[in-house]
Amino acid sequence: MSSKLKVIVVGAGLGGLSLAQSLVRVGIDVQVCERDRTPWDRAQGYRLHLDADGINAVHEVLPANLRALFDATSQQTLPFTTILDTGLGVVKRLPTQDEHDEQLWPGPHEKPTHRNVDRATLRQILLSGLEGVVHFDKRLEKYDAGKDGVVAYFSDGTTTTGDVLVGADGIRSAVRAQRAPRCQIVDAGVQAIYGRIPIEAGRQVLPSESTEDIFTVASDERKVFLGLASVAFPVPPEEASKALPAAQQLKKRDSYFVTIVGGRHELFPLERSAMKSAASEELQRIAADLLSKWPERAANAVRAGDPSSFFFVDMYTSVPCSLEAPTNVTLLGDAIHAMTPTLGRGANLAMRDGALLGRALTSVAKGERELAAALASFEHEMLRYGFEVVREAAKVGQQRMAQNALPG
Ligand SMILES: Cc1cc2nc3c(=O)[nH]c(=O)nc-3n(C[C@H](O)[C@H](O)[C@H](O)COP(=O)(O)OP(=O)(O)OC[C@H]3O[C@@H](n4cnc5c(N)ncnc54)[C@H](O)[C@@H]3O)c2cc1C
Repeated sequence: MSSKLKVIVVGAGLGGLSLAQSLVRVGIDVQVCERDRTPWDRAQGYRLHLDADGINAVHEVLPANLRALFDATSQQTLPFTTILDTGLGVVKRLPTQDEHDEQLWPGPHEKPTHRNVDRATLRQILLSGLEGVVHFDKRLEKYDAGKDGVVAYFSDGTTTTGDVLVGADGIRSAVRAQRAPRCQIVDAGVQAIYGRIPIEAGRQVLPSESTEDIFTVASDERKVFLGLASVAFPVPPEEASKALPAAQQLKKRDSYFVTIVGGRHELFPLERSAMKSAASEELQRIAADLLSKWPERAANAVRAGDPSSFFFVDMYTSVPCSLEAPTNVTLLGDAIHAMTPTLGRGANLAMRDGALLGRALTSVAKGERELAAALASFEHEMLRYGFEVVREAAKVGQQRMAQNALPG
């Protein structure tokens, strides 16, 4: 290992960026390599539910000015997931636990500990201050790891070397393919169409719980479901960032409801490949058609959506596995413990992993621990809580949306 710890992070998603922020704060040399050409290359989703894990992780890794920006742009929600009938009337409000590890983040905690945030805004905040650290258009193809360090090879023909390589490269992780080839990703049997409803249009057709609660959801006997949740910015992102340097100014975004219509593959009218390439307007029509046997109000909610905002999501899950003995290559987030979005916890765990691995690598840089021991204890913890939630998400997914059971 060189005298100064050098870390390569593959993937600038929420997990990789959380790790990078925590390392930059303590002066560790970190490079993040991201395959997309720009941060805005592809649709990455809209609203994210954050629980205490996610909120604590973001608070831990960000400097004070960015933490304030995150707080100003997050909607605090009431701690309920509300079940609706197919006419969008409230059936019951289920209290949602505060999910966090007391040892990792000892209390007292702010209440409430649930927020709905805009994914792109959160990602932009996590990218702030990492200019020169995050390199776009860098797709990892493979790596070579030896006792003296790791060499990463990219599709543009370049290489980079470091002491540690972290695969934060999402569900189709190239790093996992080499580090843990036996760890599998399987089809969950479920797909969904996501879109955005402008906030005022949504308020006219949706129950007030859809604005206040973490999530509201209705389903029928086929387990076709309609999910609804708001992202109402307390301060518009562009306003919240006005006084900050130009590089930290957030894009203008309006408040909205996210709408999700999903169910088993066989309930959708087109083959998967055709769903993937269908235009937004067609996806909106398919989503409304799936609700055609419900009272008109449900399909009308989908029709109130922005016709250019709909996209298709195919759901997959990881299968709990173990990692071979720690090397100087590790994994975090969806790259190892991807799950279906039933519990809204995948991003929370990816950011928790980022904060936890940041602590472990900081202790190595300070000479308090050996690298191998620090990575071994990170992996032990991360696999324990990560796969616990993967199992729980699969169980709830089976009950609520007829997700396939996990193999084995
Ligand atoms: C529709 C939907 C709704 C969701 N809602 C929630 C929610 O409400 N709350 C929640 O906690 N979670 C939610 N999730 C889950 C959440 O999105 C993921 O768990 C989270 O994004 C994982 O973060 P990550 O950083 O591990 O991976 P990603 O966000 O997938 O980031 C991986 C990054 O790696 C890059 N990459 C991939 N391959 C390479 C390569 N070879 N070289 C370089 N870069 C590469 C990718 O371009 C990407 O930027 C939802 C998921 C979906 C699909």
